[in-house]
Amino acid sequence: MELVESFLSIQGEGKYAGRLAVFMRFAGCNFNCVGFGVKQEKNGQKLIGCDTIRAVWTKEFAKEYKNLNAKELFARVLELKQKSNPIVVITGGEPLLHYKKAEFIAFIEALLSENLEVHFESNASIEIDFKQYPIYKKCVFALGVKLENSGVSREKRLNFKALKAFKEHAKDSFYKFVLDAKNLEQEKEEILEIIKETPNEIFCMPMGANFDELASNALSVADFCIKNGFNYTDRLHIRLWNDKEKV
Ligand code: SF4
Repeated sequence: MELVESFLSIQGEGKYAGRLAVFMRFAGCNFNCVGFGVKQEKNGQKLIGCDTIRAVWTKEFAKEYKNLNAKELFARVLELKQKSNPIVVITGGEPLLHYKKAEFIAFIEALLSENLEVHFESNASIEIDFKQYPIYKKCVFALGVKLENSGVSREKRLNFKALKAFKEHAKDSFYKFVLDAKNLEQEKEEILEIIKETPNEIFCMPMGANFDELASNALSVADFCIKNGFNYTDRLHIRLWNDKEKV
């Protein structure tokens, strides 16, 4: 399994914001959200995408990844957590690209057998077969369904069957939408369409990969949440550490 990075921090977003968390970031994504407009240069090449370009552009960053098996991944979590009891956040990229892999399942099994809470951060476009892989019923899923502002096509980003499966079978799941203050009305229509089809708890968070971008969207998104009866979630890691990686 290709691990991009791992670290102990706090969960910055969503329903579990503020919780002490070990982050395990795996390489690979089935999208590239150019709409988020984060720019990075690598080996003279200009890349554009989201705030985890290093997990998405796998060819460009391959040399920086660590190839670890289930045992080594589990050992890394134990080393990071020491004697504390954090949640373990499995993120990417899109971590569910790996959900059928034996090494990945063995890693999740090891975490659960240690009574650790396992939380996935997913774009929710991949449907888990919960019947064949019941281990995922014991996990929590933050469903970061992408809206039009991500730049990803509608056919790719909306998988209502997958959303229903998470809601029905996971230990817990909730939506986490990224909103751009410039497009709130259109984004509201998209959110309403999604929850009409597959109801679940909603958390809206402001777009922004650094402190200034976040600050320019946050207040409008908070007002929008209050007006529409949605939950607001900030991005605590950006408030605290700006655009620093591995926090
Ligand atoms: S789905 Fe998530 S990780 Fe993948 S490109 Fe979009 S924002 Fe980045």
